[in-house]
Amino acid sequence: MRIAIASYGQETSSFSPVQTTLETFELYGLFEGQQILEKCQDVGSIGGFLQTMNAHVDWTPLPIVHGWAGASGPLTRETLTYFEEKLVAGLQQLESFDAMYFALHGAAVAEGVHDTEGYLLDVVRGVIGDDMPLVASLDHHANLTQAMVDRTDALVAHRTQPHDQFETGQLAAQLLLSIVRDGVKPAMAWQKIPLITHQEQFLTAAGPMKQWFDLAREMESRPGVMSASTLPMQPWLDVPEGGWAVAVVTEGDEPLAQALTQELAEKAWALREDFCRLDSITPEAAVRRAVEADRGLVVLTDTGDSIWGGATGDSSTLLAEMVRQQIPHMALLTLVDPEAVQAAIATGVGGTLTTMIGGKLDPNFGTPTQVTATVAAIGGGRQDVTLLGFKSYDMGQAALLEIGNIRLVVGEKRGIGGNHPSVYEHFGIDVAEARMVVVKTASNWQFYNEWIDQVIRVDTPGATTSHLEDLTWQHLPRPIYPLDSDAAL
Ligand SMILES: [Zn+2]
Repeated sequence: MRIAIASYGQETSSFSPVQTTLETFELYGLFEGQQILEKCQDVGSIGGFLQTMNAHVDWTPLPIVHGWAGASGPLTRETLTYFEEKLVAGLQQLESFDAMYFALHGAAVAEGVHDTEGYLLDVVRGVIGDDMPLVASLDHHANLTQAMVDRTDALVAHRTQPHDQFETGQLAAQLLLSIVRDGVKPAMAWQKIPLITHQEQFLTAAGPMKQWFDLAREMESRPGVMSASTLPMQPWLDVPEGGWAVAVVTEGDEPLAQALTQELAEKAWALREDFCRLDSITPEAAVRRAVEADRGLVVLTDTGDSIWGGATGDSSTLLAEMVRQQIPHMALLTLVDPEAVQAAIATGVGGTLTTMIGGKLDPNFGTPTQVTATVAAIGGGRQDVTLLGFKSYDMGQAALLEIGNIRLVVGEKRGIGGNHPSVYEHFGIDVAEARMVVVKTASNWQFYNEWIDQVIRVDTPGATTSHLEDLTWQHLPRPIYPLDSDAAL
């Protein structure tokens, strides 16, 4: 069995001013050919796919291109063209193969292309034809579109938030094996849901998202059901087909697929008010509560500046509040600020730097904060850390600044924000000694789990704000809940 493999992932925030280029992909992982097998072994969707295939069949993987760029603004057109050309050339030179696996995120926009995954799937079909089995996997924050459904034989999305990309790759392999090895002719049904909600109820371990995802898992235990995917689209995607969706794949039973799709859509709709519940509190209240906590670690989620939602990672809102409250305990946070990094390098380790920091990259939300800091260390560069499906990332040059009890890592690139303790350990900081840490994510603080005592969601401004009603929507289909009171399923 010979299987073509490709991967393309980026999560676009339509409200981020930072364009995504090929260099963005290079920061997190851009690989070609056999290099993909080495770099993706044991990690991510490709890693999971390889493992399941290896366990079940004698096969030959035919890797073409792999790109992951994290989350930021739309791709430049030439960046999308790069993937288009690599896919066409790679597929054309394959002598023969039996099927294709395409690992996708599903919410990437490029200049002039609202649905780049649908676009690339169309490109792929143009080479491999309509009869070649094609299975795709998606992040469940994808925006499922007609083109994606039309161009694939089966789809599967992540089952959990935080995501388990490896598991999703395994599920995709099982779908592909059912089709290619077992001769199953799948039937896929799907449905859009006129819903777009903030990310504060996105975790799948509790609350309405757990109820909805649990129903999908129960459906998958029924005879003839191959996959049931629930897709709560990430909420900063302003595109004509935007909104939540569901997709169900059965062993050829079209009416069953449609009935389950309908049931899943109705379940989400029934829970819509719960999905919109806000838990975040003001920066002033959040920092005060963290200061008053009798032990750490207190995680403060900088909701509006989620780098894994596409924000710039340079919001200084929480830094400013900590400075204002003169916090008496050690706090850890990060900011993207290339100018501040260069100023720190020029100042030198041990020197004192007074500068305006952060809040420079996003003209809609940014406000710099003046600080006087001691330059404690200079570092940065490429970091080898396995998380969220990749094995390393490049944070550019970075510096550790001390501002009273605040330990601030400023980097040239967003890297992973401060969303993993290795960012601080790189500078010799023991996370156990900190009372609070700011994460630039609304869902992925799991890497701090061994220290966490409480998590506080903070209602901060930024491109990933929880207040979707404040954003200027131009393309989203209307009416849609909760932006429009007349939205209906
Ligand atoms: Zn996601």
